[in-house]
Amino acid sequence: DDGSFDPATFTEQGVSQQGDNQAISPSYVGYEAYKANGGYALAKQILESKVGNALDSESIIKIMESSGLRGLGGAGFPAGRKWRIVRDQVAPKLMAVNIDEGEPGTFKDRTYLERDPHRFLEGLLIAASVVGIDACYIYLRDEYHGCRELLELELKKLQANPPFKLPLIELRRGAGAYICGEESAMIESIEGKRGEPRMRPPYIAQVGLFGRPTLEHNFETLYWVRDIVQRGPEWFSSFGRHDRKGLRSFSVSGRVKNPGVKLAPAGITIQELIDEYCGGMQEGHAFYGYLPGGASGGILPATMNAIPLDFDTLQPYGCFIGSAAVMVFGDKDKARDMALNVMHFFEHESCGQCTPCRVGTGKAATLMQAPSWDQDTLDDLAIVMVDASICGLGQAAPNPIRCIAKYFPQEVA
Ligand code: SF4
Repeated sequence: DDGSFDPATFTEQGVSQQGDNQAISPSYVGYEAYKANGGYALAKQILESKVGNALDSESIIKIMESSGLRGLGGAGFPAGRKWRIVRDQVAPKLMAVNIDEGEPGTFKDRTYLERDPHRFLEGLLIAASVVGIDACYIYLRDEYHGCRELLELELKKLQANPPFKLPLIELRRGAGAYICGEESAMIESIEGKRGEPRMRPPYIAQVGLFGRPTLEHNFETLYWVRDIVQRGPEWFSSFGRHDRKGLRSFSVSGRVKNPGVKLAPAGITIQELIDEYCGGMQEGHAFYGYLPGGASGGILPATMNAIPLDFDTLQPYGCFIGSAAVMVFGDKDKARDMALNVMHFFEHESCGQCTPCRVGTGKAATLMQAPSWDQDTLDDLAIVMVDASICGLGQAAPNPIRCIAKYFPQEVA
């Protein structure tokens, strides 16, 4: 075992049984085991590389760009391009890492963190070295108590016996707000303020955390960095189906036989995902519909089961993949119940900064409880929310309304 991640052998039971703290997570790879398998050697080489060498910052950015890796928190911004933009800003520069993982149905970051935390930390250190980062702030979801314990312990080990000079790394706790998964709200929260999204521009790559240029990444994006650099960009881009490239970690839940994190080719269809990765539908449930991207990504019927699941492929249908949280429902469920549940969630989690979102989500939830919907009023409300909300929460909140009207009209007529 050379310590490389092998997607072919990934199971939820873990990638290794070499954990050196059995109490927290029996199957995770601890600092010593990770290092013994060649961990941190690549980060050290990159850190010590001189300009013009194969591992200098420009070469690594080119590798990241040609791998096609995109932000796996949901926004999908190309990682290599982000590194280039922030690298070219004036120092000091900071990094903010998002492990808030608050999108309903998403649990992939936790799954990887509980198994192989140093693969993520090495990716973070490679990014910091290439981009020229002075301090890294890791923002962890407060509900992830076990992950916090694990990460605190492993960070302590790394900092006590560093393989090379480390930048400042601080672990910050969230406080359970969904909106703090939005990058600028997370930054506000790290700064000790209310987690409210900022207006842009300026973009946080230029004016971010504490007013400094900031590289913001989701956990999983950094998790893949070591393998992409080590195995080459073609390794990552060699996966994929239906003309899409790369790997996606789908958090699958709902009426399937085997739910869980499914590491699958980007562009796989929902039908392929259910049949090949989830053992089919549960007994007594016929496939009726699915949420392709958590609460925000819309709702589609089972008849639309051949759409490649990836960034950009779902937009024509009014949906998006986001963090790849796929929820499958069956013929005994109602799509309208799911849409209402999602709207209640948005109402609860709206930060309240702008009226169309704060008031609109509540009004929509009330209207959606009528046996037959007042579609004209709901459509008006949806337009105002999309056009006049500051951030993605308010802009995406009408997605379930529109999807039900379009794809499940029989439920609300
Ligand atoms: Fe807050 Fe909603 Fe406005 Fe976003 S859209 S800033 S969550 S009130």
